[in-house]
Amino acid sequence: MITNAILQIETELQNRARLIAVTKTKPVALLREAYDAGCRRFGENKVQEMADKQPQLPADVDWHLIGHLQTNKVKYIAPFVSLIHSVDSLKLLQEINKQAAKHNRIINCLLQIYIADEDTKFGLSPDEAEALLNAPELDQLPNVCIIGLMGLATNTDDMEQVRREFRGLKQLYDKLAQTQRPNVQFSELSMGMSGDYQIAVEEGSTLVRVGSAIFGARL
Ligand SMILES: *Cc1c(COP(=O)(O)O)cnc(C)c1O
Repeated sequence: MITNAILQIETELQNRARLIAVTKTKPVALLREAYDAGCRRFGENKVQEMADKQPQLPADVDWHLIGHLQTNKVKYIAPFVSLIHSVDSLKLLQEINKQAAKHNRIINCLLQIYIADEDTKFGLSPDEAEALLNAPELDQLPNVCIIGLMGLATNTDDMEQVRREFRGLKQLYDKLAQTQRPNVQFSELSMGMSGDYQIAVEEGSTLVRVGSAIFGARL
């Protein structure tokens, strides 16, 4: 089941975007199954859960933190996390830099942008993202690199609205990608989940975060 779903999604993506298998709430046995089917990118939304699972999977897995991150929890994932999708403040970036330095790493980050027509979602406005990318303080953060943007579309059946939101995020991405700073190097646009990843890819996503379409509904 899992193997078929992964192969089908990979076929649909046709190398236009890479698949992150979202494994939150799923047991390690299912992650192993996905690994055996060829998956090497896993997305978790909770720090503790990701830190618990990481040592139980092979070392060549890329771990993506896709959920809200509190500054006091950065230390638990700093040794191994491959991309943090949910950066929404300078303060958080400063803490990631500090913890990354302890492990002699440069941690790649995405700025999470608020694109949905809902008030429950985290993220920066376009203006706030631009201000962050131009903040003088970034010069003091050599152990982080901002490599792009992430966004969640509105949870709606109106696929034209979803498309508009993704298109807006891609336009912002193209504008902010012009930023000339050593630790701003745009290459990734993380958008699209089980219900909307095809649209996201059409609108320029490079990373889709897919959970339930692979592993079934979460209880
Ligand atoms: C849970 C989650 C996903 C995956 O959602 P599905 O609808 O199960 O594919 C993607 N992105 C984020 C940020 C999530 O929290």
